[in-house]
Amino acid sequence: MRRNSPITFAVAAYQRRVGRLAGNTAGPRPNPGPRLGFTLIELLVVIAIIAILAGLLLPALAGAKAKARKIACVSNVKQLALTWSLYATDHNDLLPENGAGSEESLAGRRLWVVGDAHQNPGAMTNRDYLVNPRFASFAPYLADPAIYKCPADRSKVEIAGREYPRLRSYSLNSYIGWAEWIPSFNSARYWTFRKGAELASGSPAQTLLFLDVAPGNICYAGFVIHLGSLEGLFFHLPSAEHEKSGVTSFADGHVETRKWAEPATVEQARAKWIPNHLTLYLPGNRDLEWLKARASTRLPE
Ligand SMILES: [Zn+2]
Repeated sequence: MRRNSPITFAVAAYQRRVGRLAGNTAGPRPNPGPRLGFTLIELLVVIAIIAILAGLLLPALAGAKAKARKIACVSNVKQLALTWSLYATDHNDLLPENGAGSEESLAGRRLWVVGDAHQNPGAMTNRDYLVNPRFASFAPYLADPAIYKCPADRSKVEIAGREYPRLRSYSLNSYIGWAEWIPSFNSARYWTFRKGAELASGSPAQTLLFLDVAPGNICYAGFVIHLGSLEGLFFHLPSAEHEKSGVTSFADGHVETRKWAEPATVEQARAKWIPNHLTLYLPGNRDLEWLKARASTRLPE
């Protein structure tokens, strides 16, 4: 006796089903009744309404995205400030060393992170320079390299004909912890703070700590603010990536977003490449004056 396979059953069921459907379509067609669906005009009205709604919602969405990036940046800067404070607590009030240099020139001595001149773009793309304890004194505290990167910073550096994103967007005020053994741009008439207690000689709530830096301008681990005789020299530029604002922290740990007052500050901060830090002079620039007033405290004469 031939046994029916599952396929035979399936084919038979399919044939029965098709037969039934075919039977249903036979005979007179039912009355079509009232017409269903849209006319062209109705469809156009719906499309127009969707377009109006999108037009209303999309700018709000873009604004919300920009706000989210600013909040994430504030959170990064806050964590850097907290780490800076923890380091000092763990090291007998000595502030983490700040400065500039390559892996070779630093020769095993650790700044908070490695940051070198623009001629060494690889210093901006090396993850180890941020999170490897061999190179960065912040590394034992902060294992996530994303904290060093502003989410609004989309900048890249070119190495051997290829482009790579910069990994760091923040620098530390050069008057905070600039290492004595690294040549400095700081004025000798102002404090270069190296111990936490020294900050009490000024106003910690009015002394800059970490700054979100203009992406084309960032290089050293330190953010250099010129307090010398070169009137109007804008050495490092703060970021203007957050709707013409930058994010800054202060030595008491608080974080501020700062809307830059001068169109020239925003324009320069958005330039793609700032090759020389000694060519930008903006005497009387209110943003530069704001930074200078918060860089350090004058030493007693
Ligand atoms: Zn930012």
